[in-house]
Amino acid sequence: MTTKRSAMTSVPSTAAKKARHWSLGLLDSMKDPNSIVKKTERVVVIKDKYPKAKIHYLVLPHEDISSIYKLDKSHIRLLEEFGSVYKELNESAEVELKAGFHAVPSMQRLHMHIISRDMISPCLKTKAHWNSFTTKFFRPYEDVLQELKKDGLVKKMPPEIHKNFMAAPIKCNQCSYEPKNMPNLKEHLLSHTKK
Ligand code: AMP
Ligand code: ZN
Repeated sequence: MTTKRSAMTSVPSTAAKKARHWSLGLLDSMKDPNSIVKKTERVVVIKDKYPKAKIHYLVLPHEDISSIYKLDKSHIRLLEEFGSVYKELNESAEVELKAGFHAVPSMQRLHMHIISRDMISPCLKTKAHWNSFTTKFFRPYEDVLQELKKDGLVKKMPPEIHKNFMAAPIKCNQCSYEPKNMPNLKEHLLSHTKK
């Protein structure tokens, strides 16, 4: 006969059942030697697990800061270190890389994207992916640093503005072509690498 106690021991505890939320995934990747590209005193560079271009890295602080909107003047030196690792990676890459932050990030822990312009990757699937890197939803590193130095904080983008960026029609980031849909865009992007 199954007693109440023995029945309970076969059931996983609430803590064991509770899976780590997906938005915390960067914290695991920061500790994974297979994803780490570079580490400095203040930051770590990892490979983006679902890259949206041939080269796609993320720069994160060791310090527990959730997003650019938590930065203040005391973080200027930290953000400058983001710039130093970007400069170094850009100089050693064969193509030009851009660096910046999503206006509304989906993952926890402040992270800066460093990404190549080709945007050729099987992980680039949706219009939201595309517009998050090719419209002003992508906030360039230099602009964010300048705003932090000038105002001592980084202001949030109003929802109606960032929603409009995400809803904007798809436009090629390398010419004036306006593809009808994502498959059309992905095929078109290949033409820019053949030159
Ligand atoms: P966002 O929060 O929108 O600025 O972007 C988060 C980025 O993290 C995306 O480019 C994802 O492909 C990437 N990503 C999601 N999960 C992981 C993970 N576990 N390790 C590394 N990169 C990830
Ligand atoms: Zn084009």
